[in-house]
Amino acid sequence: MEQNLLLELAKKYESPLYVYNTDKIKSQYKKITSAFSKVKNVKINYAVKALSNVNILKVFNELESGLDTVSIQEVRLGLSAGFEPKDIIYTPNGVSLKEIEDVAKLGVQINIDNLSILELFGQKYPKTPVCIRINPHVMAGGNSKISVGHIDSKFGISIHQVPHIKRVVENTGMLINGIHMHTGSDILDIDTFLMATEILFKITKEFKNIEFIDFGSGFKVPYKLGDISTNIDELGKHLSKRFNEFCKEYGKELTLMFEPGKFLVSEAGYFLATVNVIKQTTSTVFAGIDSGLNHLIRPMFYNSYHHIENISNPKGRERFYSIVGYICETDTFGTNRRISEIREEDVLCFHNAGAYCFSMASNYNSRYRPAEVMIHNKKDYLIRKRETFDDIIKNQDIVI
Ligand SMILES: *Cc1c(COP(=O)(O)O)cnc(C)c1O
Repeated sequence: MEQNLLLELAKKYESPLYVYNTDKIKSQYKKITSAFSKVKNVKINYAVKALSNVNILKVFNELESGLDTVSIQEVRLGLSAGFEPKDIIYTPNGVSLKEIEDVAKLGVQINIDNLSILELFGQKYPKTPVCIRINPHVMAGGNSKISVGHIDSKFGISIHQVPHIKRVVENTGMLINGIHMHTGSDILDIDTFLMATEILFKITKEFKNIEFIDFGSGFKVPYKLGDISTNIDELGKHLSKRFNEFCKEYGKELTLMFEPGKFLVSEAGYFLATVNVIKQTTSTVFAGIDSGLNHLIRPMFYNSYHHIENISNPKGRERFYSIVGYICETDTFGTNRRISEIREEDVLCFHNAGAYCFSMASNYNSRYRPAEVMIHNKKDYLIRKRETFDDIIKNQDIVI
């Protein structure tokens, strides 16, 4: 997006500020659907936790996407955005039977990821169709915090427990209508991913009433210059062919599902922050901004790279900086970054700020969470007000 427009928005709405460009969301969505155009029934369920503003959800509703949710609150956001319950899948982990029952009562597709709850739910609601989340034990990507399909992961029911799943299904008479996996955040190697899909096909054959297979996500987008992204067209070509063959083997036209978060929204987002102070130390030059790990925690939590530009001085001489936050923790956004000369009050722009940025923001240090702006059909809209002191104190009762 144009630097001048971002700079104007920082002036108009003040910083720190998140900005989302819905054109990019739409073009990413189209990339996936066109890669799988040869499959008759394809459903993309956007993973709400990546960016959950209800206006963004409305954009997905216009695209005829479904939603992937992990909490009853995300389900309720989806319903508020106008989604039909049937277009929402609920894939929680470690939640109570009660919450799962409450979501099922709303008419949302349930996806269960452990045998204990499967057995309890199946006994109480044998007629409610349930999807099961399988852990295929395929290692996708390298970072254990974002890789959730490996052997020690807390997610999913192990492929080695399929006999136990079948026993639960027989004993309760419950209806299994979907098979799901979500192996982790980065598919770099299509062959590894296709290997996991073969495991799902095998498990699908164990159940008679399957309607859909949900292959989760893991689509990677570039964050750094030279990063490889998932080759969606290549994946689409191979998986579509194999999926269509499998439907014949199974004897039914199944629905192919994906639930991407990052792929759809990461590159659509920008985070704008103002430089409060330039501080020269014996070892580096720090640029301290009016933000910190309370607004964008990915660099500190996952060691992720976010490209940073100085949009106030794009033609300035390039120098090396450490970009840090104002939180009383070591909240470093980037070190040894070559950036055009930074002056106090300049506005810095962080790229790839659409996914897991605002949605992971907190009030640590009793700071306000930022405002959010959406650029939609060439117009800018404030879609979340900046917090105020009221938001910080409103649930605290002064009792002494
Ligand atoms: C988080 C999550 C996703 C989305 O992952 P991305 O890496 O953002 O694409 C999909 N499915 C489930 C079950 C998830 O928990």
